[in-house]
Amino acid sequence: MFTIESLHQPQTLSEVKQLVEKYPDITVLGGCGFLKLSSRKIPVALDLSRCELEKIHETEQHIEIGAMVTLRDIEKNPALNQWFDGALPKAVSHILGVQFRSCATIGASVYAKYGFSDILPALLALDTQVELLRGGRMPLVDFLSKPITRDVLTRIVITKDKRRVSYQNLRNAGADFPLLNAAVSKHDAEWKIIVGARPARAEIAVQASKLLTSSAYGTVDSGTVAMAASMELAFGSNNKASAEYRQAMCQVLVKRAIEEVLA
Ligand SMILES: Cc1cc2nc3c(=O)[nH]c(=O)nc-3n(C[C@H](O)[C@H](O)[C@H](O)COP(=O)(O)OP(=O)(O)OC[C@H]3O[C@@H](n4cnc5c(N)ncnc54)[C@H](O)[C@@H]3O)c2cc1C
Repeated sequence: MFTIESLHQPQTLSEVKQLVEKYPDITVLGGCGFLKLSSRKIPVALDLSRCELEKIHETEQHIEIGAMVTLRDIEKNPALNQWFDGALPKAVSHILGVQFRSCATIGASVYAKYGFSDILPALLALDTQVELLRGGRMPLVDFLSKPITRDVLTRIVITKDKRRVSYQNLRNAGADFPLLNAAVSKHDAEWKIIVGARPARAEIAVQASKLLTSSAYGTVDSGTVAMAASMELAFGSNNKASAEYRQAMCQVLVKRAIEEVLA
């Protein structure tokens, strides 16, 4: 368990900004699911739980998710279950158990850019922006391509559109990390294919997505596109699975996701 020497609990984002400027090495606390696995000493910690970032707010055009919203809140939220075929609630529902999901936060889960993330592929399949205290607002795909810098993720903003989405994952056991996951979305004629836990971070298969988008209506060959995605992306080996197995399973998950969207 970690120890904290000095804890700050600001009530507004402008107070958060002042603290971040005063203590450049301040440690942001989410639900502490990962932080509490370490025994590190944290000189200055920042608790965001009083900054009103624990709400999911639906507007006419967007769904805004505060950084302190838990994965369980996402799983149960009516708007997120109604939009995008419930892909985001479905993706988080595979992460450990209810007690863990009731603590782990979306802000930390996105900010940390975990390779094994179940959340990132689902969010990448949507029109998602992230809001950072210092970095401002940017598309999730741009945020993921930048190196991690010291900042505070405050909000995730998803545009409400009528896209169809499918999320797929493969695990050796129910509560284990995924050994591969995939999300596919179709917005008007535009398709997007994302594969994560390769074990590298989720990435869009750009060429395979274009191939699918250019397929004439009614002639989609999901097997060929899934094969193209598995050839385009890089896969690695770790204690969960070999690169070859991941590449083979990528074809299965992507094909299944395309067919689910088409159905
Ligand atoms: C045992 C275990 C199994 C897991 N399995 C899975 C899995 O199968 N699939 C999956 O997708 N995820 C999995 N996770 C990750 C989990 O879903 C969360 O993403 C993770 O716990 C981080 O969320 P947290 O709120 O607990 O973060 P914390 O532990 O509080 O923080 C994690 C890091 O993020 C920083 N941070 C926190 N909030 C912010 C913020 N708003 N802005 C900037 N930085 C911030 C912290 O300083 C810290 O460095 C697992 C985690 C654990 C511990």
